[in-house]
Amino acid sequence: MKRTRSDALFAEALTCIPGGVNSPVRAFRAVGGQPFFVDRAVGARVWTVDGDELIDYVGTWGPAILGHAHPRLIAAVKAAADHGTSFGIPNPFEVHMARLLCRAVPSLQKVRMCNSGTEACMSAIRLARGFTRRDKILKFDGCYHGHGDSLLVKAGSGALTLGHPDSAGVPADFAKHTLVLPFNEPEALRAAFATYGRELAAVILELVPANAGLYLPRPGYLELLRELTAAHGTVLIADEVMTGFRLGLGGAQARFGLTPDLSTFGKIIGGGLPVGAFGGRTDIMDCLAPLGPVYQAGTLSGNPLALAAGLAALEELGAADIETAGRTSTSEADPYTRLEALGAQLEEGLKTAAKSTRVPVQMQRIGSMFCAYFTAEPVHQLADAMRSDRDRFRRFFHGMLDRGIYLAPSQFEAGFLSTAHTPTDIEQTVRAAAEVLRTL
Ligand SMILES: *Cc1c(COP(=O)(O)O)cnc(C)c1O
Repeated sequence: MKRTRSDALFAEALTCIPGGVNSPVRAFRAVGGQPFFVDRAVGARVWTVDGDELIDYVGTWGPAILGHAHPRLIAAVKAAADHGTSFGIPNPFEVHMARLLCRAVPSLQKVRMCNSGTEACMSAIRLARGFTRRDKILKFDGCYHGHGDSLLVKAGSGALTLGHPDSAGVPADFAKHTLVLPFNEPEALRAAFATYGRELAAVILELVPANAGLYLPRPGYLELLRELTAAHGTVLIADEVMTGFRLGLGGAQARFGLTPDLSTFGKIIGGGLPVGAFGGRTDIMDCLAPLGPVYQAGTLSGNPLALAAGLAALEELGAADIETAGRTSTSEADPYTRLEALGAQLEEGLKTAAKSTRVPVQMQRIGSMFCAYFTAEPVHQLADAMRSDRDRFRRFFHGMLDRGIYLAPSQFEAGFLSTAHTPTDIEQTVRAAAEVLRTL
């Protein structure tokens, strides 16, 4: 990989941006070396400022489910820009987006837009606390819900990658209201509710935890969570910032048949522009200002450019056709059918490649999300994920990058496929992986 321009830019960035990056995982600390800078991205490819072409499995950390620079999305943003970039007074996109989200995700009766997944999760927590008049919340170790104070306790993603799952700057007086449990352990959940159930304002979780790599809920676990929260008057918040419109139009909750009280969104619903949303039961949502006492606001919330991009993405995914096409389309043209086929091809290919070497790999996948852990043991929670051989991951990452395949620069991030990936891209990726695995 050529690095001349990237290295020059990074050297300059280090003088004026902390760590040279605006979000920590981008700094490549977990894998060593320095980040490359991107000049442009189209479809499943990114081009570095030094002219290298890479097959991209980061997909801007989730949003790029249609690949980069999708023509429909770019046209929508350009058309919106011609009408002005922000009004600070209602615009029609806001109504379209709210209606579309409520139709696609049945647990949403009302939604409010904001500007990031972090904001959505922070606001949902405040709302749950205001609604229940309780302070404590419960989260799971390795789950990431953005960088709000109450949520940076045993967090995943960059916090975990850098080995600081608890952040400095969060007063102990805040953190003490956040209870943390290991994921997928029903007994721990029952015990926590037996002790704290009546004090818990909310439980927040990723239904498919994907910020410590990727692992799936065990059968019955989410049902138990729904049962316990309902019995104790605790608000169940499904963080679908990553899984929303990724695992299907109804998100992870449709896939697992769960009806949360509140849900949070981001990433895909902004089509690569800064967007978040939270929504759910009307009686809870109506506690928000101006109707209720829970304050939440945003100068740029419902921004026309961002929502134009998000709406174009959701329409392209089929969200506007729900009433006509139904939810269970399995036609070849359905983007989720295509993503599933690409995912299965990648999973099979990588499993076969791993089997032919002696490298132990747990290949995790659901739909178009995947992660390979370098361990012989199955992974169901953070403690299992931590057993992955991270030095092997580091060498795997660089070996793949040298062969033009860009994976997330951390063991604790999921990989993403887009509808712009082709079976040929996957074949090329599997061939590269087979080569690299042999060197590990
Ligand atoms: C990315 C992510 C967030 C935070 O969203 P930002 O837009 O980065 O603030 C929250 N929850 C989950 C599950 C995420 O994957």
